[in-house]
Amino acid sequence: MGTLAGKTALVTGGSRGIGRGIAERLGRDGARVAVHYGSNEVAAKETVAAIEAAGGSAFAIGAELGVPGDAAALWAEFDKHADGVDVLVNNAGIGLYGTITDVQEADYDRVFAVNAKAPFFIVQEGLGRLRDGGRIINISSGVTRIAFPITVAYSMTKGAINTLTHTLAKDLGPRGITVNAVAPGIIDTEALDGLPAEQKTGMAAYSTFNRIGRPSDVADIVSFVASEDGRWVTGQVIDATGGSALGV
Ligand code: NAP
Repeated sequence: MGTLAGKTALVTGGSRGIGRGIAERLGRDGARVAVHYGSNEVAAKETVAAIEAAGGSAFAIGAELGVPGDAAALWAEFDKHADGVDVLVNNAGIGLYGTITDVQEADYDRVFAVNAKAPFFIVQEGLGRLRDGGRIINISSGVTRIAFPITVAYSMTKGAINTLTHTLAKDLGPRGITVNAVAPGIIDTEALDGLPAEQKTGMAAYSTFNRIGRPSDVADIVSFVASEDGRWVTGQVIDATGGSALGV
């Protein structure tokens, strides 16, 4: 029996990238996994199929985030398949490149709407569905610890996620619900496809292990926090950067 047997998990943005890695891992742990996507239903169905092929159980739910009513729409889709949730992973997110002088107001609003506002209201709308003893895991970023001027607005959204994590952990402790953030460094997802080899070599060098992270590197940490073994960890931002910027 897996550590999450009998549990239901929802992974936003579970169809691709890091979210897919998390969805597949929680599926192997025995959870029934809601694989959320925004527009790419094919990718979500592929992830569901991969979880089922590994002996797990999953279903896909679509809802665009970053638009009015997004959280309610997501939970309405979820409710068609399940009657409560034990593990909520707020993973869906978008990047935004631009320094303080470059960022346009509309892009700023969009990245905050998807990365910070949507998780807030997904939690708010989900609290009645989240069972006592449950887990909320928010995917943050190493850029909240390591300054990257080129992603300043994006980094700020993840700073908001870290504060949400810390504050919710205090609020939900009496229900036995833990709330943690996992903060990846550079992870090998579609965003890196087609980048020149020398650029990837430079990215790998951020980690003290001298390699780019894999979705499974993040998913394995999420699995621990989601499990019973993670019950005494809450309100934390867990670094998942492979030891980036540890020191000179
Ligand atoms: P990704 O490969 O681009 O996948 C993003 C996922 O989120 C997809 O499932 C996508 O669904 C969904 N999504 C994106 N925007 C959405 C929207 N507006 N509405 C609904 N769904 C939406 O992303 P990733 O690189 O794995 O990143 C996952 C998380 O990790 C993000 O929060 C990101 O900030 C964080 N992170 C990533 C890295 C990295 O190096 N990759 C590093 C640190 C932190 P559709 O395809 O259907 O739109």
